[in-house]
Amino acid sequence: MNYYIHVPFCASKCGYCVFYSESSPSEERIGSYFDKLFPQLERAGEGASTIYIGGGTPTLPDCGQLERFLKKVHTCLKPAEDAEISIEANPETLTPEKVKVLRRYVTRISTGVQSFFSEARTVLGRKCSQASLEKALALVAEAAFPHWNCDLIYAIPGRSIADWEKEFDILEKYPVDHLSCYSLTREEGAALYGSLLPDEDISADLEEITQKRLAERGIFRYEVSNYAFSGCECRHNVNVWRGGLLKGYGPSATGFDGRVRMTEPADLDAWLAGKEPEIDLISPQERLNEIFAVNLRTVAGWSRELWQQVPFCDSWQKRLALAHQTQQHFPGFFEITEESIRLTPGGLAFWDFVAEELLV
Ligand code: SF4
Repeated sequence: MNYYIHVPFCASKCGYCVFYSESSPSEERIGSYFDKLFPQLERAGEGASTIYIGGGTPTLPDCGQLERFLKKVHTCLKPAEDAEISIEANPETLTPEKVKVLRRYVTRISTGVQSFFSEARTVLGRKCSQASLEKALALVAEAAFPHWNCDLIYAIPGRSIADWEKEFDILEKYPVDHLSCYSLTREEGAALYGSLLPDEDISADLEEITQKRLAERGIFRYEVSNYAFSGCECRHNVNVWRGGLLKGYGPSATGFDGRVRMTEPADLDAWLAGKEPEIDLISPQERLNEIFAVNLRTVAGWSRELWQQVPFCDSWQKRLALAHQTQQHFPGFFEITEESIRLTPGGLAFWDFVAEELLV
């Protein structure tokens, strides 16, 4: 089973972010979240093949709370010996003690750097001083986690192509094996929605540089925004993109039992009061189309064998027919054989449009 746990707290809200979280929570507030979460984890049942702890900022709670939480996750979700256990970490919150705790319980750390330059982070409305960023990354490097992801954001207004190249010069210092590089997007509801406008004119150039600089290091793109050494792809995400079963815990977390998607309320008080998750009532056909579209974001796309592993899947011939039909509206965007369906690099760049067509 794949598990996702949403920790809904952040020190402060970044200007571009629309993930559900509460800023500057009290210790009691964090305590009430854990008090509600733990009994739910105790009822989880199946052992974990992957666990993803995201947020919010899972590393915000103090060291004692963090250790109690991670111990509970291990006891209740019984990760398999080779399980992938990921945690998102905001560098600003890391201390030597917390990094030691994380190293004992997780196999993969994902550091939300976004930019190595404080000027760029300031534009993003992200509070993390240069000194605490550098100190945190040194601690993570020293701890030698089995896997290390770093998040970076491009197309930040006022940042040039040369500035983006410099991000990769600095990245070379750190032994990461996975990168998530996202173009800044303007999300309704974000604090800086009205004023933080992505620099779309240079977006394509920045993406090209990303691929080139990472490929020089042996790190290749395996999904629209994700890059890894071969064998270091995020297993949790890959499983979920392919329609794998998922149990979600915490406000705004999503679960999927093979037929139905359930989303917990994106409100801590409602979640604490026991409000039921929202059930996504779409037809099995629509659900399969959604899974089909989502995994086309990966460079490898679908093979017949992979598709047949999707819970309650329909026939591969049906998928081939759908791909051929969609291709007529997007010439040059698909590579289709009897055994595989994938998007070309041009198709990946316009995945949103292709997906829209697949979802009708
Ligand atoms: S980007 Fe991360 S740290 Fe910033 S507000 Fe969103 S969840 Fe919190």
